[in-house]
Amino acid sequence: SGADETALAPTPTLDDLPRRLADFNTLGEALDYAAQGKRGLNFFDARARLARVLSFADLKADATANAYRLIAAGIKPGDRVALIAETGADFVSLFFGAIYAGALPVPLPLPTSFGGREGYVEQIRSQLMSCDPEIALAPSGLAAIVAEAAHGLRCRTAHDWLDFMARDAKPAPLPSARKSDIAYLQYSSGSTRFPHGVEITHEALLANLNGHAVGVKLQRDDRVISWLPYYHDMGLVGCLMAPIANQVSADYLATEDFARRPLSWLALITRNEGHSLSYSPTFGYDICARRVSSQTDVAERFDLSRWRVAGNGADMIRPDVMSAFVEAFAPAGFSGGAFLPSYGLAEATLAVTISPPGTGIVTDLVDERLLSGEREDTGTGTGRMRAIVNCGVALPGMEIEIRDESGRRLGDRQIGKVFVAGPSIMTGYFRDEISTRAALQGQWLDTGDMGYMLESALYIVGRAKDMIIINGKNHWPQDIEWAIEQLPGFKAGDIAAFSITTEGGEESPAVLVQCRTSDAAERADLRETIKAKVRTITGMNCIVELVPPRTLPRTSSGKLSRSKARALYLSGQIQPFDIAA
Ligand code: ATP
Ligand code: MG
Repeated sequence: SGADETALAPTPTLDDLPRRLADFNTLGEALDYAAQGKRGLNFFDARARLARVLSFADLKADATANAYRLIAAGIKPGDRVALIAETGADFVSLFFGAIYAGALPVPLPLPTSFGGREGYVEQIRSQLMSCDPEIALAPSGLAAIVAEAAHGLRCRTAHDWLDFMARDAKPAPLPSARKSDIAYLQYSSGSTRFPHGVEITHEALLANLNGHAVGVKLQRDDRVISWLPYYHDMGLVGCLMAPIANQVSADYLATEDFARRPLSWLALITRNEGHSLSYSPTFGYDICARRVSSQTDVAERFDLSRWRVAGNGADMIRPDVMSAFVEAFAPAGFSGGAFLPSYGLAEATLAVTISPPGTGIVTDLVDERLLSGEREDTGTGTGRMRAIVNCGVALPGMEIEIRDESGRRLGDRQIGKVFVAGPSIMTGYFRDEISTRAALQGQWLDTGDMGYMLESALYIVGRAKDMIIINGKNHWPQDIEWAIEQLPGFKAGDIAAFSITTEGGEESPAVLVQCRTSDAAERADLRETIKAKVRTITGMNCIVELVPPRTLPRTSSGKLSRSKARALYLSGQIQPFDIAA
């Protein structure tokens, strides 16, 4: 530690800030501008103590030196520079070094979310093969494993980035980028298939950042606080590019430190004297709500009253989890109005919709029959309703269309495929014309999600690929999962639902349920309870398999991958517990 505490409260020197993002042509220009001010990025350790300060001015200087080193290493404009996206100053200055050199930085995941060394090597190798980088750079502790993944590939070896940054930085002319140039590659999460590398142009990025800043009504005393990984779009665009381009400071906690001590996140928000902007998928709020011991403890330890924007997105937003969070942290001054639902995807740079600040979680009650595929609300439903979360309105310049299977445009409250168009839609997947053609139809992007519009707001119902279709009726896996989670002893993320073809050739819903019960007879009882619950919810018989804790596969951004769970189960790689005879 030993870093200067006063660096945390920088005073703006550029009085006319923030300069409008629309005035910048490239990300490099945005950093050049921010570097004239006194703000910057702060990195914290697991106990929420300041470990490293990187002002925007220092970032510009370090990134420029890295650009010289990349150019000296033979990197040309358009070349890919693969970077293991560790949360820290080194990654950020290398990312911008590549930007200044006109090369495309490609953030790659850390090992934490992969099944051991072998799984990680395989993942990195596949990503290196698809982005075909000229060079791969990794933090010291990971250089050997990334070199193993790169073995025999064009980039041949991975460099320890500390060695790389110790090289001479002999000034060289920096190329000038155009706004239509690709700035970097962003991998999608890999929830439904292997992650795809999305091409993001400077123009698309700046348009999305501008829309985001307008959407959250960015203020001068806002500060971004984040533990989200830099290799996921919400962490990279929402929490790293946004503060730099808007000249606001940001505080970071490494994702693995958040996983170990989640409440450090809230400690960082507490110590911020200005307003906080901080985002998380549902599971982040869930973990925190479960960690708190008592109300007095919460009131003493935390002050969340200046948390202006508590962003929700990246995955289904759960109203029950958000209510539990409000209940747990109201004693610390947290207000449910701070929740700000949004919807987005890597293929749209990040956000497509965003709620106006102060809205909180707003839901629409929908009859189950509409959700199961009927077009009109006939009013003769089962009476069972599901609360669907309002994900906000389109960013400026973004358009949304809901379409049926034949491409016909649907009206309010009619569920269909979500298509989006606008200035921040990707130009394509890197070197993957087939996937690009499947996703882009002219200016329209098929998001792969299903949802509906109501009073200009978007409501997401689920992913088309995850939908379980039985006898012509649609069932949403999360409805089954959430119902099972209501049983005592379960929590969000313990269950994966999907459909399988039985020996008789029929489709049947199946669920994998993580459980800790060691007694076989108890497990048999539990299985019956779960089956009964699913029958009540869906009217169907369901295959129920109990599996050990931590079995279900997650993406590197922490999302459940149902298709992977299904594949692992069918291939015997997920072994259910035995049940008492
Ligand atoms: P892949 O495309 O590689 O299978 P992915 O779609 O999870 O993975 P991302 O681009 O990181 O990759 O995530 C975008 C997806 O996350 C959206 O398409 C949507 O399914 C989900 N999502 C984002 N925001 C929301 C939201 N507010 N509500 C429900 N789902 C959301
Ligand atoms: Mg996707």
